[in-house]
Amino acid sequence: IWTKLLVLVYPVFIVMDMIRVVYQDCGYLVDLDDDDTISDLQIRIFSLTELAPEEQKWSCLGTEQDEVEKWRSMLVRTVLERDSIGGGVGRPVVLEVTRNDDNRDTKEGLGTELGPEIELQKPVKIYNGPETAAMTDFARRIRSYMDQIEEYEDPLVQDKARALMPLEKFQSMAAESLDVGRSTPEDVSRPTDSRHSDLRYLCQDAALAWELLVWFRGEFFSWVNSPKCWSCDGESKIAGGAPPLNSEIKWGAGMVEIHICTACGATTRFPRYNKAEKLLDTRRGRCGEWTQAFTLCARAVGLEARMAHDWTDHCWTEIWSRKEKRWFHADPCETNLDKPLMYALGWKKKLTYVISVGRLGVADVSQRYAGDSPAMWEACLARRTLVPEDWLVDEISALNFRLHKSMHSNTLILAVQTLDQVSESLGSAGSYAGRESGAALWKRSRGEDGQS
Ligand SMILES: [Zn+2]
Repeated sequence: IWTKLLVLVYPVFIVMDMIRVVYQDCGYLVDLDDDDTISDLQIRIFSLTELAPEEQKWSCLGTEQDEVEKWRSMLVRTVLERDSIGGGVGRPVVLEVTRNDDNRDTKEGLGTELGPEIELQKPVKIYNGPETAAMTDFARRIRSYMDQIEEYEDPLVQDKARALMPLEKFQSMAAESLDVGRSTPEDVSRPTDSRHSDLRYLCQDAALAWELLVWFRGEFFSWVNSPKCWSCDGESKIAGGAPPLNSEIKWGAGMVEIHICTACGATTRFPRYNKAEKLLDTRRGRCGEWTQAFTLCARAVGLEARMAHDWTDHCWTEIWSRKEKRWFHADPCETNLDKPLMYALGWKKKLTYVISVGRLGVADVSQRYAGDSPAMWEACLARRTLVPEDWLVDEISALNFRLHKSMHSNTLILAVQTLDQVSESLGSAGSYAGRESGAALWKRSRGEDGQS
């Protein structure tokens, strides 16, 4: 019997004396002590996979064996020398573990139980011009988003999110929506109001996402313009920024807003945390905090979710509909589902780049949001002056190639399926309201209240 097992091992930033082992689609955190050796790690993998140490063959897909050996000793050293990890999260490495019961050449068994093999082609570059600083910045920005999403796959963080959610209520409410969808004839209007979307009555993923959206905004997260004064609970006003403390940096805060109380003059810090786990505790912020925490919650309930980053300063979540075979839009700040044109038509945003980043890959999804006509897409393209379009195509292809090369083949199949869908469709028109989240003046200053 040939069995091909894949083990993903990488250092976890938050708890530095652990590594994460993902066996097929399950994840485990494994403690490592200072004096642990590779054979200790083999024994731990044995306890998870039932593969005896001598049966374990660790190999990286598409990597020569001597590089694997180098990587193995480096892994243990890096995990144990905590200081060397610094502030970064280790890049995931996929280990292929094979067992050979019949003493045959292990190569024969590869891939036999994992469905169709996908041949990944190294992308051919189409951009030949010079490199610019703007390209470096653009690429760095995408990579920082890729680092962010690793946290959403952490089983402990997902557990923490699930523990906060009324999961049974989600399930029963979602089932009710689907019943409505099944029992209402096509020619009779389904119950709708301005926020309802037909998709929630038609597909399980959207029905569940809808319940998550309603709970998230109604009961879980709150919007912060200025935080309440820590001393007297009075109103405060922003007075500038300050560098983050170490305790704030730990949770990814790059900057801290300083707010002064209008009543007592006390100073309240508002760190802009950048770790979804921390946001499960603070439960407040603006669209960045909202969308990070929401995307984590969506992953924790088993939805295939990714974060869409709008270069004109907004973000939201995209969720894959297994039934419809397409990504749909979910904005937690606005409780809006499958309304991709709400920004261009409702908020009158002049979108430029919208880049989605998730565990399955990176995609330029701008066209889905830019407008409902070819002219609006043309206008959007004309505003995209940061980097050449060809370069952006190359960059995203290269990032995806690197990501997919080291992916479990079952995940890879899904990744390839879902990436095929990115250039799809201008959404349907309909009517779109202005922005709801945020203070009126702030929205007006951003031109997002639907008035401009
Ligand atoms: Zn005060």
